[in-house]
Amino acid sequence: MGFSSSLQGETAHEALLARQDAELRLLENMKRCLALRIKCDREYAISMNTVVLQAQKMDKVELAGSLVAQSWSTFIDESEKIIKSMKDNAEFLATTTLETLANLMAEKRNNRKCYYEEHTRICNDLNKLQDSVMRLRSDYEKALDQYNSAKSKLDEQKAKGSKRLDEYKDRFVKASKKLKLIHNDYVLSLCEAAEFERDMRTILLPGLLEHQQAVQEDTTDRWKMILQEIARCTNLANVRCQESQTKIEKGVNNIKSSEEYAEFIDRNKTSPPKPVLFKFDKSLLEQSSAMLPSSLKPNEIVVDECTIDILRTKCREQEVELKETKNKIKDKQTLLIQLDTEYQTVQFKSDALSISRKYALKKSMDLLKKEVNELRCIEQKVGKQIELISTSLSSMSSSAGSPGSGCDESPVCDTITNMMMDTLASPEDSMSQSSIGKKKSTQVISMLRKPFARKTESPVRTSNRVVHDPDDLHDNHSFPVGLLHNSGTHERTLEEELWFHGVLPREEVVRLLQHDGDFLVRETTRNDEKQIVLSVMWGSPKHFIVQLSPEGLFRFEGPAFNTIQELISHQFQSGSPVTSRSGAILKTPVLREKWELNNDDVELIEKIGRGNFGDVYKARLKPENISVAVKTCKVTLPDEQKKKFLQEGRILKQYEHPNIVRFIGICVQKQPIMIVMELVPGGSLLNYLRSNADKLPTKALLGMCVDAASGMEYLESKNCIHRDLAARNCLIGETNVVKISDFGMSREEEEYIVSDGLKQIPIKWTAPEALNYGKYTSLCDVWSYGVLAWEIFSKGGTPYQGMTNTRARELIDTGYRMPAPDGTPDEIYQLMLRCWQYESEDRPHFSEIHATVDLLYSRLFRRRVSGRSLAPMDAKSRAASLRSLRVNADGGGQAGAWINTLKHKISMRK
Ligand code: ADP
Repeated sequence: MGFSSSLQGETAHEALLARQDAELRLLENMKRCLALRIKCDREYAISMNTVVLQAQKMDKVELAGSLVAQSWSTFIDESEKIIKSMKDNAEFLATTTLETLANLMAEKRNNRKCYYEEHTRICNDLNKLQDSVMRLRSDYEKALDQYNSAKSKLDEQKAKGSKRLDEYKDRFVKASKKLKLIHNDYVLSLCEAAEFERDMRTILLPGLLEHQQAVQEDTTDRWKMILQEIARCTNLANVRCQESQTKIEKGVNNIKSSEEYAEFIDRNKTSPPKPVLFKFDKSLLEQSSAMLPSSLKPNEIVVDECTIDILRTKCREQEVELKETKNKIKDKQTLLIQLDTEYQTVQFKSDALSISRKYALKKSMDLLKKEVNELRCIEQKVGKQIELISTSLSSMSSSAGSPGSGCDESPVCDTITNMMMDTLASPEDSMSQSSIGKKKSTQVISMLRKPFARKTESPVRTSNRVVHDPDDLHDNHSFPVGLLHNSGTHERTLEEELWFHGVLPREEVVRLLQHDGDFLVRETTRNDEKQIVLSVMWGSPKHFIVQLSPEGLFRFEGPAFNTIQELISHQFQSGSPVTSRSGAILKTPVLREKWELNNDDVELIEKIGRGNFGDVYKARLKPENISVAVKTCKVTLPDEQKKKFLQEGRILKQYEHPNIVRFIGICVQKQPIMIVMELVPGGSLLNYLRSNADKLPTKALLGMCVDAASGMEYLESKNCIHRDLAARNCLIGETNVVKISDFGMSREEEEYIVSDGLKQIPIKWTAPEALNYGKYTSLCDVWSYGVLAWEIFSKGGTPYQGMTNTRARELIDTGYRMPAPDGTPDEIYQLMLRCWQYESEDRPHFSEIHATVDLLYSRLFRRRVSGRSLAPMDAKSRAASLRSLRVNADGGGQAGAWINTLKHKISMRK
């Protein structure tokens, strides 16, 4: 189908002409538009050049090293390139393409003309032939008439016998001849016309149309080439622009707020301003010493009848301020947590509203943190002033009875005592006699205390304790109160006493009391009220609640004291039984263990997860300045739950293995109680598998199985049953090292039978005998390990996908086992099936599992890289594992280093 076969008709001819006219108009329009486009691009390039010139006015020296400035520079440079490219293209279009377009137009116009003329010529030729045939026919008619007339006239003359017969004969002959000639002409003319007409239909017109089609298609090709050129030259997403765009984006993505000022800091590094010393100018007292009262001493507050009232008022005012400041801090911290919670929810959303909310929240949080810091400074400052005044008042009180104190003794002593009583008996703090309310206890432990000395000798159990301050241990034969008082001026709170163990659960306490006379003090809650308890080993562990007298004094059966420290000191020094019925005598204070950390030593930085008992945070352990992970326990949970929460810490603290998350300590000095552990930077293994599914080769997956097996082998050797082994409860560290975590359900027994139903049991991970009979052994963990390996190789898949727990359980009982995830090495799937043997004794132990997976790993990938453990743990592999431990403890081995420092410090003390 083409022009020649389809377009011979007259209307098609008209249409073809009209089409060519339209094409010519299109060409004309394109030419005009292209000229305009060229003009636009040229003008745009000129304007953009001005922008670039403006943008280049940058303070390059001052901003050296700034990633923002670098990114901006790249943006300008690349924009300049884009503009240059645009300008070049515009020039090319102007000089070349526009001309080609004009030529094409001229050619097309000419083609149309030729076609039209040729077509007209052919049609005219046919017309001429038609005219000629018609003319001859008319001549033919006339000749016929003439012939007939000549014939009849000749016949007439013949009949008459006319003399002019010859004349009529000649006329007849002529007419006859003419008729014959015309007849021939007519026949020839008809033949010619018929021939032409056939040729026109079959050769001439099709030939013309065929030629015309070829011509038009040829111009279409060239038209296309012109358009390609235009498209190329006006493409703002061309390779050159794309390269520039990529560079610009790379530059922007390079901006890291944490590195923005690195070079600037380096360049401008200075030492901090020298501290300004505010020293008492002793010359003030020397100049006229003879005339001055003897009580004026450098850096000491004068307490006598002239100053005591003012000091007392000041002390009260300061205490009010301190309380207000503490409240403000608390309020701001609560707000901070609320904002943080909201921040966590919008953090990963990408809609515009969430993004702007995220920045607003971040800003508010930063501001709040700054305000909290400022308030902390006030708290510190006011606290120091209170300490200074109250210490002076206190020493005045203690020396009030000694001769030569130089002032009216009894009133001062009374005043101080009264003041202390006032503090104790303020209305909002009144409470029951038998218990110590929170406010009271806080106030009491922070109030003025008399220093007291140790009379008897007793060994102090210090081997385990964390020594924060070298001055802490100055006398192994002194009572730990003295041990903590490094100078007479510092008053310690109860929390600061090393024999005070905070809210350490009773079970733990009992474990710490080993010999008769071992004692410690702790806090407990009964009927929502805080109580201070003295726990003593005397035959069996005995627990005595500190009683509060109506006057606000502390006592057991004997005398009452202002502070708990004094009460304990009295019991310890006097050697009298705590109660006559128990006969328990305090002999050896049990100091906090190295893992009992101060809550205040932990600074929560950001929430990284949510556990069963509370949020999990990335935090800083202030004394050692290392990053750690901290699990918090919601303050509102009942005591029973809190004990369960600490269970994990109790279990973890005995273990040290590169594939077990490392325990650092617990904070039980106050609420919220916390478990501090090594920060494993990758977080939950399950999330990691899911979010990195396409980046994890078999080697990495198998490595994870080796790590998990190694950790579990260790646990099995320690008779620890994890009971909740699953990818969600493993953590992933650097170099993809897997660490077993979440020991909340663990038990240290060879066999553990649960009788409290199957609440909260991870059915799909749990072995049949545990589900059916509540019987747990390490072989149940082996079953779970099989599911864990399945999760690893399915890159975070859901076991028994689409099945309810009940259905999965039923199927397992009938012999069903999950199929191998795609790409699982056959050996691993066989191992999974062995782990899922219905009878526990048919399953392999972890030692065998570890050896199997490690061997497979070695076979497939030669030796493991360092950072993974090998089975069995030979010296070399242990070294490698320890290396990994250090690397993974805090990205720089800080936790390991800290523990070494502690060990070193402790050994130095011995
Ligand atoms: P719980 O035992 O209370 O349920 P998990 O142990 O499951 O709490 O912890 C909750 C989440 O917190 C984990 O999934 C993980 O993302 C994060 N997390 C817990 N411990 C650590 C740690 N040591 N290092 C890094 N992230 C951790």
